[in-house]
Amino acid sequence: MANANHWKNWAENVESRPKNIFFPSSESELQQIIHQATQQQQKIRVMGSGHSFTALGETDSVMIFLNNLAGLVNVDKSKKQATVWAGTTINALGKLLAPHQLAMANMGDIDVQSIAGATSTGTHGTGINFGGISTQIVSFRLLTANGEILTCNAEENAHIFAGGRVSLGCLGIITQITLQLVDAFKLKYVAEKADFETTLANLETYKQNNRNFEFYWFPHTDTVQLKFNNETSEPIKDNAVSRYINQNIMENTVFSLICGAGKMFKNSYKRISKIIAWGVSKEERINQSWAIFASPRKVKFREMEYNIPAEHFPAVIREVKAYLEKENMPIFFPLECRWVQADDIWLSPAFGRDSAYIAFHVYKGIDCEPYFKAMEAICNRYEGRPHWGKMHTRRAADLEKLYPKWADFQQLRQELDPQGLFLNPYLENIMGAKSAALV
Ligand SMILES: Cc1cc2nc3c(=O)[nH]c(=O)nc-3n(C[C@H](O)[C@H](O)[C@H](O)COP(=O)(O)OP(=O)(O)OC[C@H]3O[C@@H](n4cnc5c(N)ncnc54)[C@H](O)[C@@H]3O)c2cc1C
Repeated sequence: MANANHWKNWAENVESRPKNIFFPSSESELQQIIHQATQQQQKIRVMGSGHSFTALGETDSVMIFLNNLAGLVNVDKSKKQATVWAGTTINALGKLLAPHQLAMANMGDIDVQSIAGATSTGTHGTGINFGGISTQIVSFRLLTANGEILTCNAEENAHIFAGGRVSLGCLGIITQITLQLVDAFKLKYVAEKADFETTLANLETYKQNNRNFEFYWFPHTDTVQLKFNNETSEPIKDNAVSRYINQNIMENTVFSLICGAGKMFKNSYKRISKIIAWGVSKEERINQSWAIFASPRKVKFREMEYNIPAEHFPAVIREVKAYLEKENMPIFFPLECRWVQADDIWLSPAFGRDSAYIAFHVYKGIDCEPYFKAMEAICNRYEGRPHWGKMHTRRAADLEKLYPKWADFQQLRQELDPQGLFLNPYLENIMGAKSAALV
């Protein structure tokens, strides 16, 4: 949310009062903003839809939104590629690509992020044959601190391409992104209830035999909700009424009421979790991929998500379960478990390893610190790397040990932005960088 120099992120845990907020409509306008900010010793944060939980958007200087730099630039049907303005939301993208019979191969579970915001934090979906969304980037245009516009891909500025696909907005402003797409496809979505240990016993089969597999585990219960997506040529079957009931009433309105009760009656967390688990029903829908991947999220929460090497997943989730039970931790919000393929993007949490992600959520207004701290300690013992858009306490000294290309990224950042124009105090801590004496 941004108005009259006041910005809040979606989770409402980060707020800023920037001196100036800009909505440029062209690259040349962006160049002028950079020039002016540099002259006035201001710093710049360029933001997408504000769906990150960390202080990436904290600034009292200049904030830029690319809402007016959105839409298709061009489509290359023969290569199945499209170039889009960086401010395009993933939701808009699905609709823009549909007439060209093209689609993104994979997506996360919401679609309101801007494509540049989603990729800059390493946003991912699930599926062992798919990397995070940034791996779909084949080229991007980067406007740097000195006003230059660079085309970055495997041939041109290849080192910036390697580092810049997950870069938290601290290398410069991405203005356009070219994505590798696939032919439009339909997905059959099936959700069903299962038992925790049976799920772990069948894990490899579920991961191998389904295009996209994930599960939610309901704390203090042995219940999980399995979710499978598979390509289909069957006709669309996505009843608007039952979808409304499932997505808006069960997953949002009723869920919100139950969470509210959980917040009010603190000792009822086990019962609340059981009620949520009990509410899981068998669900089946068929629709275009982009209409299946994403759902509305109206219940506000805080989230931490950790990437761990895929082989450690069973040990980590068992340890998490045992810890919550032993410590009677008052958690009732389901944990989400997903998988992605290894990639080669320097700051991608999946760099060099097939990965599992475990996401920990806390309903708004409930203190998340003891839970996140305990879960982070477990993940850290298994080479955990935090999701860049979600809460964590890791700083440069920890992160440099987790990322083999950390030093290369820092050198690139220094090369492209020696004055730290695109840093804020949070990023200075994360990057271990001090910006020049700007505002
Ligand atoms: C309800 C909810 C559901 C979510 N589901 C998922 C999920 O399924 N999978 C997952 O992995 N994550 C998920 N996330 C996290 C989310 O995808 C990331 O935090 C993502 O970054 C948000 O995109 P945004 O457009 O809101 O970016 P913002 O939060 O606005 O910005 C994120 C970063 O991108 C940078 N950036 C934005 N635009 C540009 C640009 N043009 N040039 C350079 N840098 C730029 C910003 O500087 C900032 O550092 C979820 C978050 C929420 C709140």
